[in-house]
Amino acid sequence: MSLTNASEEAAVTVRRVVTTTLPTRYGTFELIGYQGSDASEHVALVWRHDGVSTVEPPLVRVHSECLTGDALGSHRCDCGDQLDAALQAITSAPSGALIYVRGHEGRGIGLLNKLRAYALQDNGRDTVDANTELGLPVDARDYGQSAEILRDLGINRLRLLSSNPAKQIALESLGITVVGRQQLPVPEHDESSSYLAVKRARMEHDPAPDIHAWELLSRGILPEGASGYGQRDLVERYGPLLEAGDSLVIAQLGQSLDGFIASRTGDACFVTGEEDREHLHRLRALVDAVIVGAGTVTADDCQLTVRSVPGTNPVRVILDPHARVPHASKLLTDPAAPTLWLVSVEADLPARVADHVEVHRMDSADDFRPRRVLDFLRQRGLGRVLVEGGGLTVSRFLRDGALDRLFLTSAPLLVGDGVPGIRFDGDDRLAGALSAPMRRFILGDDICSEFNFSAARTGGIR
Ligand SMILES: [Zn+2]
Repeated sequence: MSLTNASEEAAVTVRRVVTTTLPTRYGTFELIGYQGSDASEHVALVWRHDGVSTVEPPLVRVHSECLTGDALGSHRCDCGDQLDAALQAITSAPSGALIYVRGHEGRGIGLLNKLRAYALQDNGRDTVDANTELGLPVDARDYGQSAEILRDLGINRLRLLSSNPAKQIALESLGITVVGRQQLPVPEHDESSSYLAVKRARMEHDPAPDIHAWELLSRGILPEGASGYGQRDLVERYGPLLEAGDSLVIAQLGQSLDGFIASRTGDACFVTGEEDREHLHRLRALVDAVIVGAGTVTADDCQLTVRSVPGTNPVRVILDPHARVPHASKLLTDPAAPTLWLVSVEADLPARVADHVEVHRMDSADDFRPRRVLDFLRQRGLGRVLVEGGGLTVSRFLRDGALDRLFLTSAPLLVGDGVPGIRFDGDDRLAGALSAPMRRFILGDDICSEFNFSAARTGGIR
């Protein structure tokens, strides 16, 4: 290295050497190689989304090298998952960078010392005690060169992707302004959970991220981009629906405060507002199948897709014993999602149906009972189901005790008379009314009440 100016040599310990591009499965980055005065070598992956003006500070991860986690798929630590999640988050943002810091193996003790510490951990030491027993620091990482690289990239203000408050403090002490720090929700493995617990208990790392956030993000339930990590209210609202696993039956109805889902003439456009529609589309993205009665298809010509969110469309299931839905309805003509048309043995069908439509003749009228329909769908791998309408169909599933949860959204409207929402033969006494543990969400002008019937059945919440 030849520096002409002696005073500059004292200040600068890392210099830009080469710039190229790196196409990856996340996108194409500008890749910049840096050489430290201590012979260290680092790279920066720089992301700038073309044509997007960046009002927000860039999203940055300062990633400590970890051969075993990053390249070999180790489950002893979460480095590989963090790297993967960081690159995904950065490429979802308008701009960002990942500084890959070499020489940070094992929090700065080096690769072989890290393996020595692993050997001690095999015999019961935790990650902190193992380093101490080897006579090594618990965390020897220095962020001076990282800060210089950030400055070289013109990044003096950033949003930091890290679970480690000490990393933020270190960068701030080096003159970098951290306007926010976001935790990356990554899966925990059996082998890494005790290691991560020790980092939280003894090294002041953030508490465990809600693992639901990651799955909701990957299913398109959280808004795209890094700001999605801040959507705690959405994680709390939809996370419990992931816990049910492969078997979940939910229903949703939007109605007026006096309990009608449409006017007397069937006008249902729109009882509840935009936020309830987004909520409904998120529910659709969380299930395998969505069920509607023939009356709703006839009245609303619904699409039952997830247009408001980026998730996957569920299979659309029409309960239609007499095959009376119009042949020109969207469910039968629009191939946006597979449609399963459940009809009786004697129903009259058109000569041919579109390729996305599968007709199934149920053996008997009994097979249209809610639990029989759900069993049938479960056998076909459609265990997570949303019963969407209309009022009659949802009420039948409710009466049958087939629902795990009901989302009932009330709009500030009084319709007077019209198409009713929930209706069933009630009890003579109020004590016999249906109730369950519940939560409420404000959706714009509307209020959504969530009844948790599965918790009521198991006595889980009350
Ligand atoms: Zn690691």
